[in-house]
Amino acid sequence: MHKILFATSEVHPLVKTGGLSEVSGALPVALYRMGLDVRVVLPGYRPVLAACTNVRVVAQLSLPASVEPVRILEGALGRSAVPLYVVDAPAMFDRPGGPYADLADRDWPDNAGRFTVFCRAAVELGMDRAGLRWQPDVVHCHDWQSGLIPALLAREPLRPATVFTIHNIAYMGSFDRAHFETLGLPPDLFRPEAMEFYGQFAFIKGGLVFADLITTVSPTYAREIQTPQYGCGLDGLMRHRSADLIGILNGVDYELWDPAADTEIAARYDAQSLERKSGNKRALQREMGLHAEEAAFVLGAVSRLAHQKGIDLLPGALAPLWREGVQLAVLGAGDGDLQRRIAALTAAQPGQCGAYFGYNDSLSHRLIAGADALVMPSRYEPCGLGQLYCQRYGTVPIVRRTGGLADSVTPVNADALNADMATGLVFDEPSAAALSSALRAAMFLYRVPSQWRRVQRAGMQRDFGWARSARRYAEVYRRARLQRQ
Ligand code: ADP
Repeated sequence: MHKILFATSEVHPLVKTGGLSEVSGALPVALYRMGLDVRVVLPGYRPVLAACTNVRVVAQLSLPASVEPVRILEGALGRSAVPLYVVDAPAMFDRPGGPYADLADRDWPDNAGRFTVFCRAAVELGMDRAGLRWQPDVVHCHDWQSGLIPALLAREPLRPATVFTIHNIAYMGSFDRAHFETLGLPPDLFRPEAMEFYGQFAFIKGGLVFADLITTVSPTYAREIQTPQYGCGLDGLMRHRSADLIGILNGVDYELWDPAADTEIAARYDAQSLERKSGNKRALQREMGLHAEEAAFVLGAVSRLAHQKGIDLLPGALAPLWREGVQLAVLGAGDGDLQRRIAALTAAQPGQCGAYFGYNDSLSHRLIAGADALVMPSRYEPCGLGQLYCQRYGTVPIVRRTGGLADSVTPVNADALNADMATGLVFDEPSAAALSSALRAAMFLYRVPSQWRRVQRAGMQRDFGWARSARRYAEVYRRARLQRQ
């Protein structure tokens, strides 16, 4: 049985800024159900400490990077039996605000130090130096926040194997040299062959250079990050490591995302009772201030408001479609300028465009259930989750052909439609014109209910459950161990 230490900086439902959180909340549970001995380690942010009431102190560490002793608390991941180790370093993590930024969304100035402490603690667990009498066979690290772990473990002769998963290569955790020098790390890590990157110290390189195997969250993104267009300057390194780079699509937790059991939505339904979905459409129109028109084509967007997501393409793409009665419901948080542009659109199109700015898990369910289609015009998308959820809800995805969007939506064309395989609309160019054509094609299809139903049903039958992805991760762990021997 593999013993896996799963090191992550966010876990649903305790702390979430993006897809990593949902992966970390679900994949360890799926692996545990397969019989793996998996344990999760997470920083002890304030909401984590508040939520984990049933914990005990299992270790106390003195780490070079920390001014205070660091306690390891043991609890369980959600309602599962998966052990959760919380790195309790109050000076670093017990503060108001988010995991990486303060309440005003400014990065914490001591992020390099904070995640050095987290990584050092995970290394002690990985080397069984915390007194737990449990040494993992594999330490599975995620994104830049745990990038130092493979780099530090690489210096240990009796180390476990390491796997590093890229959830988004654009977030590198780069800090200047002066910062690096305060971290007490081995000076030789600040070299181009190690973690130096254009004069800075990039945490992500610790994973990309030193992990035994690298995974990312879709096969297409695994190919894309080997190109200059998507590699953010790390494409050469990714090509160099291409034999060790594997793409595995994220899964969906169907206990949370099931239209037949979803307690957040107005009307529950499944593929046999799709007509009930219109109850959710009416409720959404009411909630978002849209005209109560049954026949209107309601387009939804649930997204971080960031350049990556292509939300800026929507106003131009929709301009010729308003007069055809399209409606748009947006749920988003992030960039202020994008928010103002969407707000201007709601003011210009009253009753046809509604928006909610902020993070709202519950509304995301109602929006995905109530919309006819979900739009994801991302410039790049490592995996994307909305398109996986919405297919189960009979809400047709309209996506750009990139990353996990390309891997999980089967485009509408005559053959795919006839074979009941088509699940969504797919376009190529990241432009308002290309998006507009795709939206128009979707509206055209929507006006032919028999065809639209086929696309809805094909999507609802897709299985993106975690079990299949978890089996692939188990294979990766096996291979990493073999490679380590
Ligand atoms: P990323 O990690 O790049 O933000 P993903 O699609 O991988 O994108 O994951 C983001 C998750 O967060 C999705 O499940 C998406 O539906 C959800 N989400 C994004 N913005 C919001 C919001 N404002 N309110 C609620 N859920 C949101």
